[in-house]
Amino acid sequence: MLFATRPAWVMQAMRRPFGRVGLGGRGEVHLTFDDGPDPANTPVVLERLRAVGMRGTFFLIGERVSLARDIALQLAREGHETGNHTFTHRRLGWANVCGAFDEVARCQELLPAESRWFRPPYGRLTPGLWLAARRLGLRVVTWTLDSNDWKCRSAEDAAVCAAEVLDLVRPGDTILFHDTHPWIGPILDIVLPGLIGIKALARR
Ligand SMILES: [Zn+2]
Repeated sequence: MLFATRPAWVMQAMRRPFGRVGLGGRGEVHLTFDDGPDPANTPVVLERLRAVGMRGTFFLIGERVSLARDIALQLAREGHETGNHTFTHRRLGWANVCGAFDEVARCQELLPAESRWFRPPYGRLTPGLWLAARRLGLRVVTWTLDSNDWKCRSAEDAAVCAAEVLDLVRPGDTILFHDTHPWIGPILDIVLPGLIGIKALARR
């Protein structure tokens, strides 16, 4: 596999006491998109999802929401779920508790719809981020299948990445994508029809 990977079971086991590794629902496949909203690429994702009647969960970066508020509102209006992905997506030190709270709280205020999900940047849950999520009543969630879509550099890469996702995906998976790069459209063009084919459903 060049792109798609599953987190090692050790990592999943370590994360489990502090949150969930997927959005749940045994039979469904959950599509998640991190790091937006992105004015160029989020609309492409929305268009692809609309075409097949699927919904996703978008983990938004607060400062990007303030720059592309209309897109954030549009994805909420189209029935997609949103989640908190901190205000700046910066790497926080393990001892940084106040800064972590600030990052999560500022993002939460900017989300276009009520949300209970929090995904730490890079899947790296520091004590401060965990405490912040708890204080704000948010549930920490990572993923069970990482597409590593951001590594794509060509149409060929996108086709390989999509094929690998379809090869690995199982009902109940939460797949990590990013709506911040130009290859997400070509990837979804292959992945979404493939998901219909295996009778998996995106988040409703
Ligand atoms: Zn991220």
